[in-house]
Amino acid sequence: MRSSTATGTTTTAEAAAVYRGRFAPSPSGPLHLGSLLTALGSWLDARSRHGQWLVRIEDLDTPRSQPGIAQALLATLARCGLESDEKVLWQSQRHAAYEAALQQLQRAGLLYPCSCTRRDLAHGPYDGRCRQGPQGPGPHSLRLRLPASGGFAFEDALQGTQRGAWAALGDPVLVRRDGLVAYQLAVVVDDAFQGISNVVRGADLLSATGWQLALIDALGLPQPRYAHLPVLLGTDGQKLSKSLSAAALDALEPVAALFQALRLLQQQPPAQLANANIQQVLGWAVDQWNPLALSGVADINEPLTPAD
Ligand code: GLU
Repeated sequence: MRSSTATGTTTTAEAAAVYRGRFAPSPSGPLHLGSLLTALGSWLDARSRHGQWLVRIEDLDTPRSQPGIAQALLATLARCGLESDEKVLWQSQRHAAYEAALQQLQRAGLLYPCSCTRRDLAHGPYDGRCRQGPQGPGPHSLRLRLPASGGFAFEDALQGTQRGAWAALGDPVLVRRDGLVAYQLAVVVDDAFQGISNVVRGADLLSATGWQLALIDALGLPQPRYAHLPVLLGTDGQKLSKSLSAAALDALEPVAALFQALRLLQQQPPAQLANANIQQVLGWAVDQWNPLALSGVADINEPLTPAD
């Protein structure tokens, strides 16, 4: 049997053998409709391919990770019937793995200290001015030296072929001036550690994928397939996680929240499903999952028409 999912077409046997998806929220705020949409999209893609689905808490940015938020987030997901198939992975407990990856990059001569602050840098990609040595006193960040020429290309199952020149990306920071490991490094190390075959996440991360591909290559890790979902914006045009108009889902009834997320994922749930229970809603959604309804849909922020 062949099935079509957000990250490609495979036979059921292949999918069962390899599909491992994940949802990797940063605990900087409660679960809102935008993050439920991403969680549900990745869960449906995994389940429709008889795959596993894992949750990873990206709590490296300790100043922004609020205590209790991650637990509340996991509890809201569980109320919506979305639970990790394996023990939740917490990035705050993964420092030894990031350190090992940094040492590997260091040995390969791919890391360099950089003294530039955000204020030093004009808008646009980093120009590599510290590649020959830091231009000023510490504390320094550590950057990855991208290849001198060329670029990346990958096939995104929803957004199509993506290409970019390394020079247009600029060398990414892997360790910040304050010593915190950056998302770009942690996500690559942990996706490989968790054996993730399919990354389904928000399109706000599409432009970061080039950096992640460079790191995957430099560390000799397997490359997952990608599908980037359209991002839900607040009424102020900001991504919901950063928007003041993002209402926490805690107050919303789970079936109503799932129903709304399914509509935003363009899955057209029938009106009577709004009165079903969580397992029925999720069961319907797995059977009907048609990610291609989302491809080419750049904006899911059109006002919704009432369910008929
Ligand atoms: N932690 C990121 C976020 O909450 C997602 C990372 C990823 O899916 O790669 O936006």
